[in-house]
Amino acid sequence: MPYEHILVAVDLTEECDPVINRASESAKANGAKLSLVHIVEPMAMAFGGDVPMDLSQLQQQQFDQAKERLERLIHKYPQLSKDNCHLTYGQPRQEIHALAKAQACDLIVVGSHGRHGLALLLGSTANDVLHGAPCDVLAVSLKKAE
Ligand code: AMP
Repeated sequence: MPYEHILVAVDLTEECDPVINRASESAKANGAKLSLVHIVEPMAMAFGGDVPMDLSQLQQQQFDQAKERLERLIHKYPQLSKDNCHLTYGQPRQEIHALAKAQACDLIVVGSHGRHGLALLLGSTANDVLHGAPCDVLAVSLKKAE
């Protein structure tokens, strides 16, 4: 059964190019729709949720920066459009799963660094997304050439 709707999750760094390319190839090969998502993590979350200062301005800057980067990606990849690109606040795993369900996606594509040692213990977004995913997950290897 070919995939019908592929969701690619990107961190908006330069590393997202191979992930988008892989998702685009899969979408083309399957004749599937391609959607993209980036999640802006609330700053308070990074500080453990309890921060004794107002982060709203910084948070807005972070969101605006993500929006700008996303617009550059839409410009770079003609297969993407504003309608199929999503930018939301929250926790990546939770939001990616929720969007995949809401949009009836049958494949989620993420980048994977193939971590080991302490970094593996700390976990990765790819690992996180895999657990409890509502559909198949493709982890694109981002390992640097040795
Ligand atoms: P990481 O484990 O954080 O190095 O990220 C690995 C992959 O998870 C990235 O290549 C993206 O596919 C995905 N990812 C990481 N952070 C986000 C984010 N904030 N929003 C959407 N996807 C993300």
